[in-house]
Amino acid sequence: MRQPLVAGNWKMHGSRESVGTLLGALLASDIADTVEVAVCPTYVHLAQALELCAGSAIGVGAQDCSHAEAGAYTGEVAATMLADLGCDWVILGHSERRAYHNESDSLISAKLAAAIEAGLKPVLCVGETREQREAGEAEAVVAAQLAGALDGHSKLDGLVIAYEPVWAIGTGLTATPEQAQDIHAFIRAELAGVTGVNADATRLLYGGSVKPGNAGELFAQADIDGALVGGAALVAEDFQAICNAA
Ligand code: PGA
Repeated sequence: MRQPLVAGNWKMHGSRESVGTLLGALLASDIADTVEVAVCPTYVHLAQALELCAGSAIGVGAQDCSHAEAGAYTGEVAATMLADLGCDWVILGHSERRAYHNESDSLISAKLAAAIEAGLKPVLCVGETREQREAGEAEAVVAAQLAGALDGHSKLDGLVIAYEPVWAIGTGLTATPEQAQDIHAFIRAELAGVTGVNADATRLLYGGSVKPGNAGELFAQADIDGALVGGAALVAEDFQAICNAA
């Protein structure tokens, strides 16, 4: 009943040429229509990606948006601008934004409100660091991130959560399917207590060194509904294989 979703987070990678090549390969590849697919290039490649993906089954999203609607916010891009351009999705609260740009849960909550208001589908990222996991704090950290971002919103239909343990991102270390499933089940239970969220219908993605070789066992878990893919999303055949494993 939850359609699998695989989203590629391209981070700060790409050129007009590589975006054209990667999307050309993905659009020509055989991806099962049972899985929903999205790609999230940099802001400057969004228009190109939208043009190339127009009329296809591949959705396009941004990697962040501003909390503000318009005004004196140099360097920011409003959610309404992304929606106006034609974007479907927006990633919010990625651990790299939290770590390198000091994004707090309350800022992420404001961005979430802006994204929902603009009609974008948010992918909210949560996840603990290695130190937090070793201290036995993974669930408490994730619960606080969820509450901090989600409390006080009324329209959260279509919300997607990505669980991305920070220690697994770009490191080649993946959470075991059991570790990931445990936190996903915990997240679903937490969501059941959040007003405006239908926990059973909410798609929960796993992220952190997802590759063709580990995607199948992750997707086989009851509460893992897809993936947010970084590095492997830049390689067309790897991304295609991950989509087809979902
Ligand atoms: P990774 O990144 O797949 O390269 O670990 C995932 C992410 O940060 O979204």
